[in-house]
Amino acid sequence: MKCKVAILPELNKPFVIEECDLADLKPGQVRVKIMTCSICHSDIHSVKGEHGTFEGSATAGHEIAGIVDAIGEGVTYVKPGDRVMACIVRAGCGTCMNCMSGRSWFCTNLPPNKFEQPSAYTRSNGEIPTQTGSTATGFAEYTNCDESCLCKLDDDIPYAVGSALACGFISGFGAVINRCQVRPGESVAVFGTGGVGLSAIQGAKVSGANPIIAIDLIDSKLELAKKLGATHTLNPKDCDVIEEAKKICSGFGPDYVIVAVAGSKIKRQAISASAPWGTICVIGHATADQEMMGDVCAMEFLSGRKLTGSVMGVVTLRRDMPKYMDMYRRGIVDIDSMLTRYYPFEQINEAFNDAEYGGALKNIVVIGGTE
Ligand SMILES: [Zn+2]
Ligand SMILES: [Zn+2]
Repeated sequence: MKCKVAILPELNKPFVIEECDLADLKPGQVRVKIMTCSICHSDIHSVKGEHGTFEGSATAGHEIAGIVDAIGEGVTYVKPGDRVMACIVRAGCGTCMNCMSGRSWFCTNLPPNKFEQPSAYTRSNGEIPTQTGSTATGFAEYTNCDESCLCKLDDDIPYAVGSALACGFISGFGAVINRCQVRPGESVAVFGTGGVGLSAIQGAKVSGANPIIAIDLIDSKLELAKKLGATHTLNPKDCDVIEEAKKICSGFGPDYVIVAVAGSKIKRQAISASAPWGTICVIGHATADQEMMGDVCAMEFLSGRKLTGSVMGVVTLRRDMPKYMDMYRRGIVDIDSMLTRYYPFEQINEAFNDAEYGGALKNIVVIGGTE
């Protein structure tokens, strides 16, 4: 079928919306009519080739909420008309050793996730663009994706919330809940209070953490961090954050330091700020050369300090998403406050620009509609 797709003609060029041919469904695939796709910082890295370069044109977008339009042979989880989120994390087979151990990301019965792969679209010039959104292309009217990356979206959850849940929210919230498993009364500091960092703060709040320290250069984001659960806010422009974080946490530093921003210098600060027994959990990252650390001494870990990381909040997709939707429904987590602005599909370049430079938390590109 033909549909409109936001095509990046080459690295670092604005998107152009073009009519392309979408391939027929292969067995196990689902065609999704996209309603909303929000912009993730990973998309900003992708279009610059910072998640791996690509030749020729590309597509992007992975925070997808939409409606099942058609199903391929063998698909059983969804049927046409179902509301869904398409995620980078896959549900996995559910029966292999890794799936049963809560590591469906490493399912041995599915091929490994590749962040870049040929898309299902053919441009009018015959070219097949590279898909940078891993499992699906979100900035398009329709996408084909494997059944395994879908999770049903409850009828009362808005599509835009589904988009935010699909990646940004789980990345921060899940890092605290699933990877760090923070307990009541433990202290948490979060470097970077964009959408992911604010979701981590909400995870800390739900866990009963205290204190919860938000660290960012932008005061308006720190204000929102307070509203969403931070007990303290620190702006590196005004203070020495390492010293202050230690002071707030009995002189030793936070039990957990979540790093939701890119760059090795901030990771170094996070290690220095953490308690000697603390855990540093890395989420945000840029290119490999911007994340190399030659200034970490193995002896810093003798006291029990741990360095870990988290991708997509280590969620088990179809176990955790229904819980998070219910937490949203009952007001235990606040996703609406993190949705900055809605843009029609035609304004995708403006949406990207504002996401990168406009201090936005989560910009939503509306393709099929929000309702
Ligand atoms: Zn993302
Ligand atoms: Zn499996």
